[in-house]
Amino acid sequence: MSATTLKLLERARPEILAMQPYSSARMEAGQATIMLNANESPWGPSDDDESGLNRYPDPQPKALRTRLGELYGVAAEQVLVGRGSDEAIDLLVRAFCREGRDTIAISPPTFGMYAVAARTQGAAVIEAPLAADFSVDAEALLAKITDSTKLVFVCTPNNPTGALVPLATVERLALALRDRALVVVDEAYLEFAGDAASATTLLDSHDNIAVLRTLSKAYALAGARVGTLIAHADIVALLRRIQAPYPLPALCVEAALSALSPRGLARTRTRVELLLGERERLARTLPSANGVLAVHPSAANFLCVRFADAQQAYRVLLEAGIVVRDVSRYPGLADCLRITIGTPQENAILLRSLGLREVAA
Ligand code: PMP
Repeated sequence: MSATTLKLLERARPEILAMQPYSSARMEAGQATIMLNANESPWGPSDDDESGLNRYPDPQPKALRTRLGELYGVAAEQVLVGRGSDEAIDLLVRAFCREGRDTIAISPPTFGMYAVAARTQGAAVIEAPLAADFSVDAEALLAKITDSTKLVFVCTPNNPTGALVPLATVERLALALRDRALVVVDEAYLEFAGDAASATTLLDSHDNIAVLRTLSKAYALAGARVGTLIAHADIVALLRRIQAPYPLPALCVEAALSALSPRGLARTRTRVELLLGERERLARTLPSANGVLAVHPSAANFLCVRFADAQQAYRVLLEAGIVVRDVSRYPGLADCLRITIGTPQENAILLRSLGLREVAA
């Protein structure tokens, strides 16, 4: 923990703060050259293998944390790396919520894993629905939050609506909940939101904000499972207490470092530009497609599209070999499908399948 302990830590589960965390053999390896402390194989997985895969990986690789810190404009000690942002969501709920007593708050429709993580932990979910224009109603959320609420999840751009949440809303929540609850800002899709600022810019003035980022979307590494939580160093230390000893496979760390190399970053920039162009093309043309009633404005790499008959549109697309996300089970989205922006070729097939003739890129 840092020199002055974060007041919000008093809101974490006391048994997590009190317990002696597991100390992995890898953490204790230090400068040793003969490693006989972790019951690993002394040989690689094949005779000429020098991959180092016979050794447990670094639990929080320094090089990766440093690169992620640079990428997101924060200090390395504010960074926790894990198996996708899904893991960070789960760690937060487990660290803060006592079963049957504590709660989280969300504004549905939003990403489903916040509620799943809470229910798995036995924590109730307080809901303040989004307004009709899909904006987060901070006052409605605050009115529902009680002393049992430990975490408030804000997704921006929001999945599945695509709407960006103004930083002023995040700041309002953080101020009102100071020392009481952590405002978790999920920015999984922020790379697609133009020059929208990250909530990391609020961390210096609000220590009850945590930001989630991921390499799964813009950085094309969903299969490697690398997500980042950015928060006060005490929150990072708290979550480290309950995180699995070796969350990051060495091969995934390598893939992440390669994606974050100058070449990798340049490639991502180019691809994000291309996707944004495609998003605008689809948003412009989809309204004239068969059965489309509306295309909601999106700051992410998907569009939330309202159909006259979403189930029928889903079937038509499936017959054309295209699977989109049926989001009709979400409140307020009964007639909507969420469509991820694909390659220009994939998008052209999508448009054709919905009855549109060739549309210029
Ligand atoms: N947050 C949001 C808003 C998401 O949409 C997703 C993935 N669908 C995640 C987090 C989880 O991403 P990751 O791959 O980093 O676990």
